[in-house]
Amino acid sequence: MILITNKSDCCGCTACAMICNSEAITMTDDAMGFKYPVVDESKCTNCGLCDRVCAFQNGYDTSSNFNEQLIYAARHKDANELFLSQSGGASAAICKSVINQSGVVYGCVLDDTFTAIHKRCTTLEECEDLRGSKYVQSDLNNVFSYIRDDLKAGKLVLFTGTSCQTSGLKSYIPKKLHENLILCDIICHGVPSPKIWSDYTHYISNKYNKEIKGIKFRDKVKGWKSHVESFTFTDNTKIFSTSYTSLFYSHIMLRPSCGECRYTNYSRASDITIADFWGIEKVSDTFAADNKGCSVIMINTVKGETILNSISSEFNVLKSNKQECVQPNLCRPSVINSKSDKFEHDFEKHGFEYILNHYGNIGWRYQCKRAVRLIYRITLKRIIAVIKK
Ligand SMILES: Cc1cc2nc3c(=O)[nH]c(=O)nc-3n(C[C@H](O)[C@H](O)[C@H](O)COP(=O)(O)OP(=O)(O)OC[C@H]3O[C@@H](n4cnc5c(N)ncnc54)[C@H](O)[C@@H]3O)c2cc1C
Ligand code: SF4
Ligand code: SF4
Ligand code: SF4
Repeated sequence: MILITNKSDCCGCTACAMICNSEAITMTDDAMGFKYPVVDESKCTNCGLCDRVCAFQNGYDTSSNFNEQLIYAARHKDANELFLSQSGGASAAICKSVINQSGVVYGCVLDDTFTAIHKRCTTLEECEDLRGSKYVQSDLNNVFSYIRDDLKAGKLVLFTGTSCQTSGLKSYIPKKLHENLILCDIICHGVPSPKIWSDYTHYISNKYNKEIKGIKFRDKVKGWKSHVESFTFTDNTKIFSTSYTSLFYSHIMLRPSCGECRYTNYSRASDITIADFWGIEKVSDTFAADNKGCSVIMINTVKGETILNSISSEFNVLKSNKQECVQPNLCRPSVINSKSDKFEHDFEKHGFEYILNHYGNIGWRYQCKRAVRLIYRITLKRIIAVIKK
């Protein structure tokens, strides 16, 4: 039976819990809100299924992948779709194609409490909430078993998610049901803590003494390349912040498995991989010069190619290759911050506002560090100028 002794061995994909016929496994929150499988030994029959299904520990199947992926830069032709999507609108078009074939789409939304969860969508309206990246680990709940039921009923199913989620799902679904399953993953930097995210939304609401109506993790109002969160309140006022973003990029609140991620390479467990096409300006100085967004689309299988053909008329597309679209999380996992254990300990002991002041980009510590960096940079510039004279 599955036993997690090292947290970095488990990405939380839920495959083991879903496959257990004895319902012996519960996905249980740790202090950061990351879920791990816990086995009730009194129910376990030692069948071994949970160990065998774990793609994160046993490796993943790429047997239907092309030898060479097809890689494109792509931008939705519809300006509104482009604006509402995180990158170039690839996800929205893929979802639309599946819904138009009477299929079912599963993807990540923020629910009424702004918790990231995976949701089942059967209409284009329901798919609208999938747009935009939610930089927090989503709760899959029992979604894998709903997908198996949909596939058994003969439905076409699209699942969009992180690479480890798609890989876990592929391993969980029996091979005989794979034909109608389309997997779309993202190039993935890592997922932050659901508990920190939840506390942060409460902090923002309390700070402004207003009820939050909508959240964007990366609001494109400030351009595709800027990484700024926005919160819209029920009185229609809006604020921007970078506090959560700054904690995200410090890698201090990522799931431990993200530091040992198996999927930071070109060998994907999905049919299609989508992401931001960082560096598109080096490939073409006109294609995405307006800073409104650009997707990289990697086609990994024949199924992926069929989907691409069904959406290609909606996109401006540029043929690309591995060298042009390379980015850090296609080469190696993010490096987990060495202070992350202390961060977790401090969070448990002192609560959210303490860690925001202590580790975030507010508070006197951050301002002092910033001032020192600024003085250092100015001094260095002056020294270089003197030397050049
Ligand atoms: C946690 C995370 C880390 C990422 N890291 C990188 C990176 O390092 N490099 C890079 O180029 N791109 C990264 N991305 C992907 C990028 O931000 C865009 O989501 C992607 O390019 C799709 O953009 P789009 O315009 O096609 O789709 P959008 O309309 O923005 O749709 C987003 C799609 O992503 C899915 N999604 C959103 N949030 C989550 C989540 N929390 N968990 C699972 N699925 C989710 C939705 O189901 C939807 O299908 C990351 C995304 C997430 C969520
Ligand atoms: S990675 Fe998935 S299958 Fe493996 S132990 Fe964790 S939740 Fe279970
Ligand atoms: S060994 Fe079998 S019964 Fe026991 S927890 Fe794993 S899947 Fe469930
Ligand atoms: S970085 Fe890897 S392990 Fe972490 S969420 Fe992304 S795909 Fe999963």
